[in-house]
Amino acid sequence: MASIHYRSYAKINLYLDVLNQREDGYHNIETVFQTVSLHDDLVFTPHDEGIHLYCDNSDVPLDERNLIHRAARLLQEQTGCGAGVKVKIKKRIPVAAGLAGGSGNAAATLVALNKLWELGLSRAKLRALGLELGSDVPYCLVGGTVAATRRGEELFPLPKLMDTWFVLLHPPLAISTETIFTSPHLVRNDEAPYAGRTYAFGSAIRAIKNGYLAAGVFNRLESAAFALHPELAERKQQLIEAGCRAAAMSGSGPTLFGICESQERAETIAAQFTDIATSIVTPFDQSLVRLSDEAGTPSRHVP
Ligand code: ATP
Repeated sequence: MASIHYRSYAKINLYLDVLNQREDGYHNIETVFQTVSLHDDLVFTPHDEGIHLYCDNSDVPLDERNLIHRAARLLQEQTGCGAGVKVKIKKRIPVAAGLAGGSGNAAATLVALNKLWELGLSRAKLRALGLELGSDVPYCLVGGTVAATRRGEELFPLPKLMDTWFVLLHPPLAISTETIFTSPHLVRNDEAPYAGRTYAFGSAIRAIKNGYLAAGVFNRLESAAFALHPELAERKQQLIEAGCRAAAMSGSGPTLFGICESQERAETIAAQFTDIATSIVTPFDQSLVRLSDEAGTPSRHVP
């Protein structure tokens, strides 16, 4: 089989709350994920043996620490498949930025190698393997506007966002998710969820569904990240003062996003940030897109 080319898209968390820590060490969370138009490109080429990664960004490990490597290895272990692969990674999503770049790459790898190696695994099996790789991976197999609970794998699709543009600020920091989750400044929500949902989560979902996006924006992890890097709190305030309808950190940071109702407004606001990297992105309705050839011609919906 010839090479397969996938785009894996970044996500932001419009809403993110942290509930109790579970016996397996993970936290239960309540979140609303949103795929955005920022993406990496991955080209998977069959190879006799071994998993060989190539990337244009030196921050990305190319060995077993890479989630692409781990996803490929997991598929080999699960199926006994002895085939190899070369993966060329064009990184556009900032690394360790709260945008699930690695998780999206892992999701693309599961789907692409299931085809390339002709494994015939079901979507349910890929989702289960995805969860072994990371809490965001099951969502990254799907994408769009999605509410999620438990570790983030129980997914409830929501309607598409309308008339929304995001200004992203990219502070030049890498934040480890573990540092934030173990911070003494993280005060978890100890409300016992009714039917799997706290009252606050239900209200946020209703606001987002009804087009009051700004009323649904929240991130519980900000207190921990802002204690570690106070400049992030200032950046969030600057997004509001510049005219965004709401602003928050994505995931465990450091990426911040501001919400705008038009492209023109997003451009005007982004232009005010001359001392930090910015992007303007739109909501996107899937996390993975297969391109029809290596040249990158978009084809149709995945998979
Ligand atoms: P999440 O939002 O899922 O917690 P993140 O966006 O904060 O993730 P990633 O970009 O996935 O962070 O990177 C987190 C860590 O994973 C980094 O330390 C990075 O070195 C490592 N990593 C492993 N595989 C990849 C990959 N394919 N792309 C980027 N980073 C990777």
